[in-house]
Amino acid sequence: MTITTSISSVSEWDTCHRKAYYSSHSWGLGYSTMYERDSLAIGSLYHHAMKLVANGKPAHEALTLTGMAQESIWNTYNTRPNDADNILDTFAGLAVAHLKWQASDKSRYSDANLEVITVEEYIRFPMEDYEFTFVCDKIVRHKPTGVLMPFEYKTGKYPEQTEAGLPWDLQPRFYCYAVSKLFDEPVPGVLYEFIRATNPNKINILKDGLPSQALATLTGTTYEIYNETLVECAKRYCAPEWYPPAKRKYNSVEEIMVAYQPTLEKFQNRVDPIFWRRPHWVTQEEQEGAARDMLAAAKEIEVGRQLGADVRPTGLNRSACNAWGGCPYKSPCLVHGQGGDFEGVLKSDFIKNKIRLTDYEGKEI
Ligand code: SF4
Repeated sequence: MTITTSISSVSEWDTCHRKAYYSSHSWGLGYSTMYERDSLAIGSLYHHAMKLVANGKPAHEALTLTGMAQESIWNTYNTRPNDADNILDTFAGLAVAHLKWQASDKSRYSDANLEVITVEEYIRFPMEDYEFTFVCDKIVRHKPTGVLMPFEYKTGKYPEQTEAGLPWDLQPRFYCYAVSKLFDEPVPGVLYEFIRATNPNKINILKDGLPSQALATLTGTTYEIYNETLVECAKRYCAPEWYPPAKRKYNSVEEIMVAYQPTLEKFQNRVDPIFWRRPHWVTQEEQEGAARDMLAAAKEIEVGRQLGADVRPTGLNRSACNAWGGCPYKSPCLVHGQGGDFEGVLKSDFIKNKIRLTDYEGKEI
């Protein structure tokens, strides 16, 4: 009999066995958090919009359709505490900023250098008695070198942390292994696009009507958006109904642009961009090792599934408790360890077998 396991449940098991036990509906108790965190909700919307664009929808139409899908994110549960307007504003700002960034990107891994082979492909990969399922955001061919690579979007508040964790993540190593076997050609790595879930339009405008030059307060803004806002503000500043010319510090848009040149240069060289793409290289040995690790984890999970919900797995990974903003299962996990009514905690704070978000056509996203 073939046992089907998703890569995400194996990854969760890899992060903390107990987390998988509390959350996996196909095996343990099946309780998920009632609402998506804001950055996850933004990530889902963003993902969906990029999928529509990659499937040939014009960008403005993809944004409208995704805006319609957002209803399902905060209306699913009455208790949802997320700020819906903030999510939508941030998402829309990010999506527009992404298009500008991409249009100005001349790097080696810009869209112009990528041929898209598949988008959101649901992959079933067999190994021994198991079938591993996963959805690859995209599979692309890098035109200058001809190499095939899985492509993944990673959206979050702290994408640097996600990037720093990649060497320990089973997912990229296994994706390379599976895609190289399926296409029967070498796959040297995964191309990641990191996205900071932040509203790029939040620019601090000073009393004189011009944008602040303090980069520290503008961490969520791109060069393109800052430049555009600056031009708009400069035109307004120089309009006759603004200060009387005698009171103005600057007398023309050109003068303002010259004065802001150092800020614009700093923006172009900034170290905390909103978007960046980077390949994560994976050796052949690492790919073979990932296949072995994946099988071993799937077998462990199967043993756990057969033992049932009464047996809490051991082998917890303490570093996962506080990583990524803290494990959501901390309370039931603690109560469980003290012999308390952990299921009562799960029932009050979590939802069992949560339904997935759907898009405007009712499909899961
Ligand atoms: S609190 Fe820590 S040990 Fe408990 S489920 Fe979460 S990550 Fe695992």
